[in-house]
Amino acid sequence: MFNKFTLVVAAMLCIAGISHAQSELQPCSADEHYRKLLAKYPQLVGYEKTFEEQLGKRMAERTTAAADTTIYDVPIVIHVIHDYGAENLSDTILYDAAQYWTTVYLKENADTADVIPTFVPYVGKPGMRLHLATKDPNGNPTKGIVRFQSYLTAAADDEAKFGPWPQNKYVNIWFIGTFGAEDLGVAAYAYFPSSAVFEPFYDGIICLSSYVSVSDPSVAKTIPHEMGHVMNLYHPWGNTNNPGVACGGTDHVDDTPPTKGHNPSGCTPAALYDTACASGYMVTYMDSHGVLDSVVNYPDTANSQNIMDYTYCSKMFTKGQAARMRTALTGTTAGRNNLYTPANLAATGALAPMPDLPPVADFIVNRGVPATSDLRAYFLTFNNATSFGFRNASWNDTITGVSWAFSNGATNPTSTSMGTVSNKFSVPGWVTVSLTATSNAGNNTIVNTQTVYVADTTTVGGMGYSQNFSNASDLSNWPMFNFYNNQFKWQFYTGAGIGDNSCLRYRSFDSSDRITGNAVGDHDDIYTPAFNLSTSTDDLYLNFFTTAAYTNHGIAGGTTLVNDSMEVDVSVNGGANWYRLGGYGGTRLDNNGNYGVEFVPNSATTWVPRAINVPATYRAAQTFFRFRYHPGNTGNDMYLDNFYFDGFPAGIKEAITASPSSFNIYPNPSSSGFTLVFKTGNTGSVAYSIKDITGKLVYENSKVLASNSIQHEQISRSATPAAGMYFVTLTVDGVNMTQKLVIY
Ligand SMILES: [Zn+2]
Repeated sequence: MFNKFTLVVAAMLCIAGISHAQSELQPCSADEHYRKLLAKYPQLVGYEKTFEEQLGKRMAERTTAAADTTIYDVPIVIHVIHDYGAENLSDTILYDAAQYWTTVYLKENADTADVIPTFVPYVGKPGMRLHLATKDPNGNPTKGIVRFQSYLTAAADDEAKFGPWPQNKYVNIWFIGTFGAEDLGVAAYAYFPSSAVFEPFYDGIICLSSYVSVSDPSVAKTIPHEMGHVMNLYHPWGNTNNPGVACGGTDHVDDTPPTKGHNPSGCTPAALYDTACASGYMVTYMDSHGVLDSVVNYPDTANSQNIMDYTYCSKMFTKGQAARMRTALTGTTAGRNNLYTPANLAATGALAPMPDLPPVADFIVNRGVPATSDLRAYFLTFNNATSFGFRNASWNDTITGVSWAFSNGATNPTSTSMGTVSNKFSVPGWVTVSLTATSNAGNNTIVNTQTVYVADTTTVGGMGYSQNFSNASDLSNWPMFNFYNNQFKWQFYTGAGIGDNSCLRYRSFDSSDRITGNAVGDHDDIYTPAFNLSTSTDDLYLNFFTTAAYTNHGIAGGTTLVNDSMEVDVSVNGGANWYRLGGYGGTRLDNNGNYGVEFVPNSATTWVPRAINVPATYRAAQTFFRFRYHPGNTGNDMYLDNFYFDGFPAGIKEAITASPSSFNIYPNPSSSGFTLVFKTGNTGSVAYSIKDITGKLVYENSKVLASNSIQHEQISRSATPAAGMYFVTLTVDGVNMTQKLVIY
């Protein structure tokens, strides 16, 4: 209780400045989400009116009918949206919780005994049993819990509602780690039936994983509260988002006396015996002929222990609420009345005993040694001092044993550890990890070939190295990680490039329907091979070119919303620690503006040179670099090409120094001639030639210049009339040096 209260205070402080409407804590944001949908679908009002009319009619019928003792069986499915943290709730916790929710809906929760005497006569029984389904939508056996790994478990909203099962057959419940800014301070929310008509894929409950405990009374009623919204209950102060503010709202339920409602404050006497809005409360009822039937004098005290209030001492629904819920459940709105039909109970296996199913084998690579700006250690050199860690995360049954197998000369090629296995590898390349989990009901094996990468320490070059990604095979030692196995990822691309028609691409353009799976929160990496930079004593730049755009999806706010970014990191201990060297974001990265369609560069002029100074600290005998892309909610594609090391930053106009072992070309790429900068040797004799990409000689010249001097030789555009890639060879004292030149 105390912890929750502390959290509440912190949340209030955080949101106080956002807007008046959010100046109060909102343990449940059902009302906010209702209001957003109402703005989007104004016709929702008509549905609600019809619903209330049906409700009134049914309620009237009900009062004349025999007492309704029907118990309704309702199939549910729990989706755990997780990233292998604490939010990955265990099966056992969820089974226990689901059982508890049913006790509440059968009025069998023990704490109804603590209801204050005033409300004992009003405790209602919704009369619903919630059953974890035993058949999935395809008819396959299930225990009613599914799991999905996503970064959207953090800062979640409707887009984290992956994989909904048909909402007229199952009530969907998603558990997530944290809510996003729009639901700051919220524990959960759900949609009313009328709202679900318009966006059925969002119908159901989404709830923080920390609000599922059945032993903590302050959170145990969170799902029962949200299920109340699913069955059309409002908060007792009405369908607003302002508990504790004003009398005058209504929840359309007579035996919940008028109240301002309560912000979380526990069962204080002030809350329990709050009469602020309820003094003298009574309701007059007319018969079907409009003649006075009766006047009922309801309590003059708010029902602060009501599960739909925010007191966190909630213990009961009222009889009126139970009737309203049953009306919603038996109504056609959003197909609620299909849930309990015999046909649906058979299709979902809701009444069958939970089957004994084999486990689902699963594991996660542990976070590595705490490293600056790192999230996980997936990349290490062979025989690195740091180990990879693999953690068993198998589920779906009581696991009695596991069997691990690893390729690449693992220190532990096999293991039966139920927890974590630490491993080093002696053979470079992608590691194949196999995990078999066993239970009394059978076993299941997961094989993953793209989990961790063991890097070679053999260097591929250093100063003077260049890579223009002309073939997919060029990337054989540039491992790409798509951590969440989704559409946002690095890839080799043919169809654009500098000087040739291929490059790297980060696919940030969202081609999905955007119902689920927003890119925000994702990240993906590509790693370089090892470079020997230890001999570089002068300036050293990591150079490359990028071109990118954004997509504003018609969202107002202009370029301030452009939030894709890419960081460049370096490691000198084989991937054990990474340090950030530079980064690009916003319109600086997305230099081509807004594109409504997927961006593909069609001109060399769209490419921007990038240069990152590599400090001497990071010039090791084996230096690795990492490009980490963070897609945002306005992403479009980003292309990267012509990675090379040089003593000068890409794109500068003027050389500063030159050495006899290399030469430089400025500007490069160029559209109007260029300058060669080099140092002559002892004889002063130099020659230069330019060949096009087919090897055809297009220009050559030779001179004798001052010996051991720095020279600038200007070559006009006429030497390279056609746009494209060229190779410039400079010969100093008989030694050839070649560099790539791009003309556009
Ligand atoms: Zn609520």
